[in-house]
Amino acid sequence: FLVKFPNSTIRFSTEISTTSTRHASTRTPDSTISLIQVEISAKAVAFDGRLALWNAARDITARKIAEDELRLAASVYQNSNEGMMVTDAKNRIVSVNPAFTSLTGYEAEEAIGRTPSMLQSGKHAEEFYSAMWESLNRTGSWHGEIWNRHKSGELYAEYLSINVIHHEDGTVHRYVSLFSDITDQKRKEDLIWKQANFDSLTGLPNRRLFHERLSREIEKAERSGQPIALLFIDLDRFKEVNDTLGHAKGDVLLQEASRRIRQCVRQTDTVARLGGDEFTALLPESGESLGIQRIADKIIRELFRPFDLEDGDVGYISASVGITLYPQDAADPATLLSHADQAMYAAKTEGKNRFSYFTPSMQEEAKNKLDLTNQLRGALERGELEIHYQPIVELSTGAIHKAEALLRWRHPDRGLILPGAFIPLAEESGTIHEIGRWVLEQSAAASKRWRERYGLRIQVSVNRSPLQFEQFEPCKCEDITIEITEGLLLGKSEKVKAQLHALHENGMEISIDDFGTGFSSLSYLKQFEIDYLKIDRSFIQDLEEDESDQALTQAIILMAHKLNLRTIAEGVENPGQHDLLLHFGCDLAQGFLYSPAVPEREFESILRTGSAWHWRR
Ligand code: C2E
Ligand code: CA
Ligand code: CA
Repeated sequence: FLVKFPNSTIRFSTEISTTSTRHASTRTPDSTISLIQVEISAKAVAFDGRLALWNAARDITARKIAEDELRLAASVYQNSNEGMMVTDAKNRIVSVNPAFTSLTGYEAEEAIGRTPSMLQSGKHAEEFYSAMWESLNRTGSWHGEIWNRHKSGELYAEYLSINVIHHEDGTVHRYVSLFSDITDQKRKEDLIWKQANFDSLTGLPNRRLFHERLSREIEKAERSGQPIALLFIDLDRFKEVNDTLGHAKGDVLLQEASRRIRQCVRQTDTVARLGGDEFTALLPESGESLGIQRIADKIIRELFRPFDLEDGDVGYISASVGITLYPQDAADPATLLSHADQAMYAAKTEGKNRFSYFTPSMQEEAKNKLDLTNQLRGALERGELEIHYQPIVELSTGAIHKAEALLRWRHPDRGLILPGAFIPLAEESGTIHEIGRWVLEQSAAASKRWRERYGLRIQVSVNRSPLQFEQFEPCKCEDITIEITEGLLLGKSEKVKAQLHALHENGMEISIDDFGTGFSSLSYLKQFEIDYLKIDRSFIQDLEEDESDQALTQAIILMAHKLNLRTIAEGVENPGQHDLLLHFGCDLAQGFLYSPAVPEREFESILRTGSAWHWRR
């Protein structure tokens, strides 16, 4: 007897025959034991006046598995989250599952008999669908992402896979489509892509996307031979707006500025924000130089218009634009951009609110700058830096109680270099900190020497760039004045107040340098501990001829005195200016009229002989 029934008894109830299924184990001819399903039929048969039991067992394992699979398939079809759709050879829908309805909005009755084109979004070109059919016909399957239209009209993205079921003779029987909604995922991907490629404040392409587009345009231009223009746009005085009106207003200005720039170029041009107040405009197919110039002009004009920053605040800026051309100026994206940057820089130094083209001489200058920056690093150690002193005289007596320390670089090949040519490089490269510390030490030591040698108290003015001020640790230095520009006082005023206070605590005094060229608010100065106001050279230059300069200078002196500040006139070059300043009540003056900045030995001889201009007259 082959079949064993573990733990099972066959029950006959009232009936005389019964059928049931049981698990049973069986030993197959190769002696392995396996579990099978059997159908047991038992029948009580009256036979010869006796009751006989007739038993039969049939292996139904295969049938059971097939039935289970069908049930499972049906259940998957009904309950799956994936939409399923079956179409016939003519692509008419014959069956859809409930998930289809929830994903597409169409009930089975609405869908059956129609073709899947009812779902088309219009987002894909004809070629998309023909490629899909090509794949289905050739390989029997297709899968990919597709945009479809919900019954409500809304578009959604789905991941779709279609398989063809063939008849035995190879003709098409069914197309079975499975799809799931990936709209959310697509949106997230879109968002991530946007965040990686666009500036969140202005919505413009960011530096990354700009570089990508620039590379692509250069590739295109290589093929087409059409030149590209690249505009580098930097806002002038944006920092001032940001510092005085706050970042929120600065942001509004940037948004409006990007709108204005966009309106100056063609739809197909790229305007990007590289960061801060730097923008670029990429103008492909710019064969005509007049056209480029016109665009640059327009951008400059647009950005010069006042910016309405809400709550009655108005921002005034301008723009400096650098222009460079592919392929004339550079062959690769990075060089092209750096040339545009240099051209912009040239526009700035030429006076801002203008554009400048990149030229080879500019390139030379840039290289020069780099060389100087590198040489500057070792200049202090090699003893190439020296300090010259310019006397500051008392206007009423001509006496010298003060001097300004002005840095000079004695370059082995280039001779004496003035600070205007290397201080900005020192600031950019960070060497300014080391240099600044040295200037302060030297100045303090010189002042001490002069007191010891000549019994004279000479207070030395030392220039500080705003950058330096940030990490400035005051040391004990009497007879030192620190010159700062008023720009430093804007913005982070609490920190600056504390710094200025610390300077005073250490016996130093404070001058506002170049007064009148920047923000120039005397009432603003009131909040800070300041001792001197240096009236900028630009007021003094035409003082004799220009009546408005006279009025302004007089007003500055008057107001300064009301605030208990002493005034120093800068750049006094002739006796007429001297007399006017004396008449206006200005306290002190410096300039070529008295003496230029001179080496220490020469300054000492001025001290010894007392030969300031006053006595020479
Ligand atoms: P500044 O502080 O405005 O210095 C005055 C400049 O005017 C000096 O130029 C001086 O030589 C020049 N000057 C003086 N009298 C006259 C005059 O009568 N007519 C004319 N036309 N110019 C006159 P310099 O020495 O070339 O310095 C330029 C700038 O470099 C300075 O401007 C200052 O901002 C900066 N600087 C100089 N030394 C240092 C330093 O040690 N550290 C820092 N951070 N900056 C410095
Ligand atoms: Ca100065
Ligand atoms: Ca000055």
